[in-house]
Amino acid sequence: MATDGGGKPAILRLAVPVPLRRLFDYLPPQGSDSAQLLPGQRFWVPFGGRKLVAVLEDIVSESPLAELKPALEQIDVTPLFDRQSRAFLHWAADYYQAPVGELYAAALPAALRKGKLADHWAEQWLELTTEGKGLPESALARAPKQQALLQLLLRDGRQSRPHLKTLGHSATAIRALLDRSLAQWTAGPTAPPPLSTDKGAAGAAPPRLNEEQRQVLDAIPADRFTVSLLEGTTGSGKTEVYLRLMERVLADGRQALLLVPEIGLTPQTLRRIAARFPGRSIAALHSGLAEGERARAWLSAAADQADIVIGTRSAIFTPLHKLGTVIVDEEHDGSFKQQDGVRYSARDLAVVLGRNAGVPVLLGSATPSLESLHNALNGRYQHLRLRHRAGDARPPQIHIVPTLGQQLEEGFAPQVLRHVGETLARGEQALVFINRRGFAPTLACDDCGWLADCPHCSSKLTLHRRQRQLRCHHCDYRRPLVDSCPQCHSRSLSALGAGTERSEALLTHRFASYPVIRVDRDTTASKQALDKLLAPARAGEPCLLLGTQMLAKGHHLPRVTLVVIQDADGGLFSADFRAPERTGQLLEQVAGRAGRGELAGRVLVQSRYPEHPLLQLLLEKGYGAFARQLLRDRAVAQLPPLRAMALVRAECEEAKWAEEFLGEARRQLEALAPPSPQLQYLGPVPALLERKSGRFRFYVQITAEKRGALQALLARLCQWAEGNRNRRLRWAVDMDAQEL
Ligand code: ADP
Ligand code: ZN
Ligand code: ZN
Repeated sequence: MATDGGGKPAILRLAVPVPLRRLFDYLPPQGSDSAQLLPGQRFWVPFGGRKLVAVLEDIVSESPLAELKPALEQIDVTPLFDRQSRAFLHWAADYYQAPVGELYAAALPAALRKGKLADHWAEQWLELTTEGKGLPESALARAPKQQALLQLLLRDGRQSRPHLKTLGHSATAIRALLDRSLAQWTAGPTAPPPLSTDKGAAGAAPPRLNEEQRQVLDAIPADRFTVSLLEGTTGSGKTEVYLRLMERVLADGRQALLLVPEIGLTPQTLRRIAARFPGRSIAALHSGLAEGERARAWLSAAADQADIVIGTRSAIFTPLHKLGTVIVDEEHDGSFKQQDGVRYSARDLAVVLGRNAGVPVLLGSATPSLESLHNALNGRYQHLRLRHRAGDARPPQIHIVPTLGQQLEEGFAPQVLRHVGETLARGEQALVFINRRGFAPTLACDDCGWLADCPHCSSKLTLHRRQRQLRCHHCDYRRPLVDSCPQCHSRSLSALGAGTERSEALLTHRFASYPVIRVDRDTTASKQALDKLLAPARAGEPCLLLGTQMLAKGHHLPRVTLVVIQDADGGLFSADFRAPERTGQLLEQVAGRAGRGELAGRVLVQSRYPEHPLLQLLLEKGYGAFARQLLRDRAVAQLPPLRAMALVRAECEEAKWAEEFLGEARRQLEALAPPSPQLQYLGPVPALLERKSGRFRFYVQITAEKRGALQALLARLCQWAEGNRNRRLRWAVDMDAQEL
């Protein structure tokens, strides 16, 4: 049996991925060597009849438990997590009220989470011998294939076997260099393959920074923790600033971490970054990768072999020992917040990571989140701005098309359809944006504009078709569904935003002589698929692009001159207090798609309520003024970011059980901390999406003046909730919840 050297048996204190907020003690596996036990290694452990992958936190000599089981097997020799990344995960576990074992699980790529061996991906590398290194690039001129291979190895250093294959170097050429003792195979840990094979683009001279960009860069300190919010419209040159910051960090021998939204990591983006840094190794971490590839990229980054790590949300947990900066692009994007399991925000954790490492954090967006904007306006973050478009493109013209009382064809005003037709006939491209996300239907009258208001709150009632009811999600007022408008008795009532499928059918039919490219989750399973789908649009032929928010960003489509926003209203009247913010961001981003090239752009926004002050503000003064107004509204309503907010969620096939559980949770909360002006409770109320996958979802909302007080309260609530024995009921704490 392993001992700690002093004769007492060593005990392993492990983080196990189970929903219990504590660590678990085990004896070391049979016959293991205590000198080989290091925190950060993975172990297989028995747990409740199952076998789980746990991470070693600590080695102790005593356990409060009398009977300890031995762990089954040690997986790693080299720890996967160092002290600093473990501390970071613990901080996140505390902040989000999550079991630390679940944070490790969230941090690990799937293959490693399932216990695959880390050295499974050890690579075969082709590198030059001393003799090979002594040759000039012009050597082997009589064997061009061998010469090309020699040049590659001289310029970019050792190459992995799969990468050589990707670049098209033949086995014969490799054999020849080996036979001449100019090159040799070595085994070594994996490094990510350099992404760029695009020799034309590689090494392209970067543009000269304009004055604003230079000021922005100068304001970011080299190696001190600061958070900067970079606010700049689409095309104002933010990405160029990121590239320069990365360049600085790389020159310093450090690593750069760039977080991008789920739909932002397009092959286009990757190519642009790879082209700027030829010869540097770039690890891309995203859900489009096969499990093995992703684990390989993660391990290479953790082994200091990646200079740049680009990834979506979970890349924030990649252990980087030489971190030089963290950049979050499109920081307002909802995909940075995990919506199940550990409900962390990668954007917010980026700030913590930067603080721990003592390096600058840069948050960039054309449409900053109210959270970041608030921090920038109150001076906690540095507020940097780019006010002009960097290239020649001019800002688009925006017009509201009032739809009330108009003869709409499947949701489109006649003049809008006419504009689409004319655009296509001129040989240009049109983009029709259909907002479906976060949609909480409320009822509206098509003739007089009546809306189903709550008599007790300043909010709309939400349509619940199943119960044939209209309900208020703020105070739980309910009334039966009506068949006719209470104001004008018209029977033409519609759920705001509904009928998108029919709109799509109409456009496809009406403009059948042009390619209609539909972009949404269903048509684009992968990034490559999207890239391919958009190829005709990039080629510049007249076509109609039709889609959801996937179309809103990241694609440079210079021939799009008309953007149509079918319905701006849904988001303005949702029961979700964040809906106007999201709508504003989306509208601004979509509008930014128009006129990216030399051709001027036009944006048509359909609305039943052209006089709506928020819509007016957005379209006339832009997102900046709009967002500042929303911040004032949030202050009045005592909502985030002026208040800290958390939800206690529960879901169950039996609605009654979820409601009862949360009712009891609220009683527990009120017993611990009675409601006051500084601490307020709401609920249980049904979630906006009340039923999902056959489960009914409810929440209790807590808003607090002091984050610390809220944290302490939630920690105690979790202790109580862990006692829940109803296996069919799931509960969770959602700190800084983004969705209701
Ligand atoms: P953003 O990320 O804010 O949308 P980009 O950095 O992608 O903006 O810049 C928009 C376009 O302008 C790109 O084609 C980019 O190459 C170009 N650009 C950026 N900075 C400059 C500059 N200083 N001079 C000339 N062109 C620039
Ligand atoms: Zn009416
Ligand atoms: Zn109400």
